[in-house]
Amino acid sequence: MQKSYLATTPDEEGFFGKYGGAFLPPQLEKPFAEITAAYDKLSKSHAFRHELATIRKHYQGRPTPVYHAKNLSDFCGGGQIYLKREDLNHTGAHKLNHCMAEALIAKHLGKKKLIAETGAGQHGVALATAAAYFGLECEIHMGEVDIAKEHPNVVRMKILGATVVPATHGLKTLKEAVDSAFESYLSQTDTAIYAIGSVVGPHPFPKMVRDFQSVVGFEAKAQFLEMTGVLPDHAVACVGGGSNAMGLFSAFIEDPVALHGVEPLGRGTALGDHAATLTYGEEGIMHGFRSIMLKDAEGNPAPVYSIGSGIDYPSVGPEHAYLRDIGRSTVGTCNDAEAVDAFYKLSQLEGIIPALESAHAVAYAMKLAAQNPSDAILVNLSGRGDKDIDFVIANHPIPTPPRR
Ligand SMILES: *Cc1c(COP(=O)(O)O)cnc(C)c1O
Repeated sequence: MQKSYLATTPDEEGFFGKYGGAFLPPQLEKPFAEITAAYDKLSKSHAFRHELATIRKHYQGRPTPVYHAKNLSDFCGGGQIYLKREDLNHTGAHKLNHCMAEALIAKHLGKKKLIAETGAGQHGVALATAAAYFGLECEIHMGEVDIAKEHPNVVRMKILGATVVPATHGLKTLKEAVDSAFESYLSQTDTAIYAIGSVVGPHPFPKMVRDFQSVVGFEAKAQFLEMTGVLPDHAVACVGGGSNAMGLFSAFIEDPVALHGVEPLGRGTALGDHAATLTYGEEGIMHGFRSIMLKDAEGNPAPVYSIGSGIDYPSVGPEHAYLRDIGRSTVGTCNDAEAVDAFYKLSQLEGIIPALESAHAVAYAMKLAAQNPSDAILVNLSGRGDKDIDFVIANHPIPTPPRR
């Protein structure tokens, strides 16, 4: 029997075609090799898989439902939209799917501490949650500017017992937080593990995080089949680093299902106004892996912007670049205004307030539905919008609910 895509991709060195790999300073080669070996072993261990499945069921609240958004579908006047409700996962987004698993690996390796950087604080909160559950220390690096901007998430991390380390150099945002976290990790690789927050970074993280997130796709596939008797025609997800999208896509790669990754087009197409990496970027290496990236004139990571603070990343998971190149996925875009419109439409037509990140996928699905009246569209609703409501009402007046 031919081995499946997921079993053979990436290759042993972590390459998806020409993308991925591990481009590391010499001091980090050993700790990353240790994580790779641990993951290879644990992913085949019945005990590890059982422990993770138990956590998912009894702590995270999995399986999350698939919901037929009939009102929204009727409004679009065409195809049928279904939502995989990752917003109902504990902590309100898909991130816990890989954070709990990364912490479980840390525990099996005998590590005492989880280290990571965070931009808007979402990854920091999910990791701090996992650390509290497993009794691990948690050290989250965050730019000083982001600390001021994302106050509620900083408070959450602290309540959960994490230490928040401010990055005070340069622009004091995500890039500086990455530098700061890696520097701290270098001096404690024996006792700590670096927990990456998406399908990015050096091997094995793009594979490992995909595998941990694939629970989203495999659950959704079984649920959708049970509901309708057939597979969806389309699977849609927003793409920042790309973990919620790979989670959904991974179950459908060898099926006749169109895969759509939706990138944030922000305020427009000028560099600095968006984070549509696959749409406008070029090949390069940053943060330890080869992929497509948005570069400035000097070839450094470009400034990026999106209203969805969890999807403004100047690179993208290597597997997304690969799937796009081989023609297996389509990359679309959604701008801020379309995302806000979808945010309000889903709230007012279905009673579900989505995260602004997830609203990008919903907006794209609404367009697909209008254009493909006989199709079924499965969307990964990656998170809930509680974190975004103050920002949205302050900047985008509440529209009159659509007539129905
Ligand atoms: C962090 C986040 C994302 C973006 O991360 P991916 O790795 O691209 O999935 C999307 N949606 C929500 C709700 C998030 O918190």
